[in-house]
Amino acid sequence: MSDDLTAWPYREARNILDHLQQAEGRGHKSKDDPVILQTGFGPSGLPHVGTFSEVARTSWVRRAFAQICDRPTRLLAFSDDMDGLRKVPENIPNRDMVAEHLGKPLCDIPDPFGEEESFSGYMNARLRSFLDSFGFDYEFLSSKDQYRNGVFNEGLLKILEHYDRVRGIVVRTLSEEKREDWSPFFPVCENCGKVNNTRVTDIHPDDGTVSYVCDQSFRGAEACQHEGTVPVTDGHVKVGWKVDWALRWLQLGVDYEMYGKDLIESAKLSSSIVYALGGVPPAGMSYEMFLDEEAAKISKSKGTGLSIDDWLQYGPLESLAWFIYRRPERAKRLFFDVIPRSTDQYLEALSKFGATDDRRQRMDNPVFFIDADRIDASESIGYDSEVSYSMLLNLVSVLNTDDRQVVWDYLCRYNEEVEEDRELIDDLIDRALRYYRDHVAPSKQYQLPDDDVMPAVEQFRQFLADYDGEDPEEIQSAAYSAGKDHDLDLGRWFKAMYRLLLGQDEGPRLGTFVHFYGVEDTIELIDHQLSEGITDDNSGKAH
Ligand SMILES: [Zn+2]
Repeated sequence: MSDDLTAWPYREARNILDHLQQAEGRGHKSKDDPVILQTGFGPSGLPHVGTFSEVARTSWVRRAFAQICDRPTRLLAFSDDMDGLRKVPENIPNRDMVAEHLGKPLCDIPDPFGEEESFSGYMNARLRSFLDSFGFDYEFLSSKDQYRNGVFNEGLLKILEHYDRVRGIVVRTLSEEKREDWSPFFPVCENCGKVNNTRVTDIHPDDGTVSYVCDQSFRGAEACQHEGTVPVTDGHVKVGWKVDWALRWLQLGVDYEMYGKDLIESAKLSSSIVYALGGVPPAGMSYEMFLDEEAAKISKSKGTGLSIDDWLQYGPLESLAWFIYRRPERAKRLFFDVIPRSTDQYLEALSKFGATDDRRQRMDNPVFFIDADRIDASESIGYDSEVSYSMLLNLVSVLNTDDRQVVWDYLCRYNEEVEEDRELIDDLIDRALRYYRDHVAPSKQYQLPDDDVMPAVEQFRQFLADYDGEDPEEIQSAAYSAGKDHDLDLGRWFKAMYRLLLGQDEGPRLGTFVHFYGVEDTIELIDHQLSEGITDDNSGKAH
């Protein structure tokens, strides 16, 4: 029934159906069980655009699933707060204090911000308020609670029972020298509290315990040499992370989880472990990572790339959601210059959504996911105006203004329909003004056309002076002819016009621009720029 829906969240939803069939066939799941979608969070740092992106995408899969199956679903946001701290993050206070606790579970390290009961308590609180601020519907779970409250006990005992098998799956992926000592279990040292320094020396499946010695130096810090025997249950040990992932899938009955491309091999490994323990691993997909301006992978500890707050300065949240929605399997550069295009593509999708009553077409439109809350609240969704973000940027550029009203006056003169989308356009103007001020204005360079280009400028100006229509296509074709008639390379010709009028190498289609800006005003602008607008300091402006 849903086979004709082509958007990727439906593909994922259908994969969940296949997974459920398999899990039910093996008796691991009953038809009454809710369907569990999970997202993971590493609380060694603050939530960031990657966190947002994973929860948003998983929420979209959940929404798609709800369209093709009426079983209840739960979305878990799971925090790995039993993980040992491997490195002190660069962007926190009290780094020296935190450094003393390297190797301890994140939930046992004091909060460097002094607000919560632990390091991970602080990060978890930030995660929740971050997710809440975007209105995500999720349940928060922490590793600490699952381990220490015994939720994972059954799975931990299973791992002990199938110790050699689980160990065998992991060690074949390790280097020769690491194989001998490797154990899926990492006891929390009873003496020093660290989890990254312990090594299992013996296992006792009959009484559910393991013996260990705390002798692995970690990041230069000496280990305490304590020896002991602890139960594998109730949080006395943690399992190594690939096994941890499998444990979580198994014990929480996870049916769907997506992950970054760098974790494909880990996901395969964790799946093998789940099978070895008698379970069925979840459905899931891998997504590509975001890249920064130089096309390098974004580093969250160094804080490279664009933050969500940065984006929201210049583009609406929906434009960021659009950027994240599109082709999760492709690597994308997350930088300022993608904001205008993402905003415009979102506006186009919005406009298409509003223009059709066809339910299938609407369900396949990204807007169906991005604007889910508004759609479910039966708000009218659409966009009728021709005003695009790039057009606003160009308008702001040529008006050289920071006054929203000036921009509005222009829009209203030539485009009566803008009133209908007033609220959205208002918001876009504010963001365009900011974007222009911060990212366009500083690099503007007006330039007079070369002598051989001038006759084409004159011809185009004359066309406008004689023109009494209002068709952007006619204006565009006149601009085109002006270049052609004077044997100019068209790329060079249009670039000359953009440099003259906007102080930029690139710009909108000239016909659309003139239509928007107004024929009279364009003539005035050309005259102004030619006669006195361009000065030595390149500060030419229109008004
Ligand atoms: Zn120790």
